[in-house]
Amino acid sequence: MEIQTIRLPIVMASGTCVFLRSRRSRGMVYLDNNATTRIHPDVLDAMMPYLTDAYANPSSGYGLSRQVKKAVDHAREQVAGLLGAHPEEIIFTSGGTEADNTAIASCTACLPDRKHLVGSTVEHPAVRQFYEMLERENGYRTTYVPVDADGMLDEDALDAAVVPGETALVSLMWANNETGVLFPIPELVARLEGKGVFVHTDAVQAVGKTPINVREAGVHFLALSGHKFHGPKGVGALYASSKVRLKPRVIGGAQEQKRRGGTENVASIIGLGKAAELMQSKLVNHDHLKLGDMRDAFEKSLRERLGGVMINGHPKHRLTNTANLAFQGIDAAALLILLDEAGICASAGSACHTGAVHMSPVLEAMGFDRERANGTLRLSLSGLTTHEELERAVEGIVQGVEKLRALRSGPQVTVHSS
Ligand code: PLP
Repeated sequence: MEIQTIRLPIVMASGTCVFLRSRRSRGMVYLDNNATTRIHPDVLDAMMPYLTDAYANPSSGYGLSRQVKKAVDHAREQVAGLLGAHPEEIIFTSGGTEADNTAIASCTACLPDRKHLVGSTVEHPAVRQFYEMLERENGYRTTYVPVDADGMLDEDALDAAVVPGETALVSLMWANNETGVLFPIPELVARLEGKGVFVHTDAVQAVGKTPINVREAGVHFLALSGHKFHGPKGVGALYASSKVRLKPRVIGGAQEQKRRGGTENVASIIGLGKAAELMQSKLVNHDHLKLGDMRDAFEKSLRERLGGVMINGHPKHRLTNTANLAFQGIDAAALLILLDEAGICASAGSACHTGAVHMSPVLEAMGFDRERANGTLRLSLSGLTTHEELERAVEGIVQGVEKLRALRSGPQVTVHSS
């Protein structure tokens, strides 16, 4: 593998930007875009002035700060534009986790007498762990609605889960981070109509990858995160419908119209806005559907060249960038090591912590056994993924799987004790 020298932009404490030379393997194939994405060059360009010359605090009262405030407001419009929201309905946060936590905390604070929550069995820890904290510390009860083997929500079970007068909030993710499976949020919200509950959606994996209109969806809250769609890390937003009150979770200054205290992460907010604008134009151009064609062709060639490859998740109702694939008879953790050596980045369906292998709760909730989860890889593409990279990934995966299968079916080594 060739080694390529790249220039890494580093922002110094003085606000100036220097470039460090770094070496990385040329042609690294990055297929872990559900973990995080590469910052788009236009996003970085948009951010730079706010890391250097335009450093004023947007809350101050002079010309430079007014200019910065205007840029933050523009970013708010860009994010609102991507969601079909009003700019006043967008609150900037430190990311998806804070947006999820804030939505849940606000709903429970606004309906303090209701101690019942509803979620699905495949929610991200940013929702699930907050629910569990409320159960442990505040006496809440949660109903987790199951999914089927395709990862689709059991809609009758959702109807049965909501207890009018007792349930405060239903939180359902728009797209699953592992399988990419899409819940039909607008239809689910329509089913909840008239039940008098708050509805939040964790759309961290969906925003920028599939068209979303919060008005049409009818949700009260929606969480998004910049680094999942070519924006910077550590910045996100909460959409809070103008029809509901938002109780702040981070309290301090009067920023974000007193809905989230703390000096704004200006450059990242500008980057988030730019990324939202870019994604909006790509979605209008149906780039996500073209990406789906690339993903489908990628899956097809893997399945043609290797037997025993199963798609985890609904084949149609899923993000067009995500391939969650189970390879029969292999250990995905071992495959990841081989792929890493070949310069291919992906992630697995099970994680190994301190010697024990933990099965993915998502695959478990879909009813898969440990063997299927252990053989699962998540390969997630982005708009920056090329055909050539996917061809290289197919080669790397085919070689890796064949090697591991050969090892498994090779002559057994017997150890004799003397
Ligand atoms: N929700 C989902 C579905 C996610 O995939 C993630 C991140 O992986 C989060 C929430 C948390 O987002 P952040 O990393 O911005 O805190």
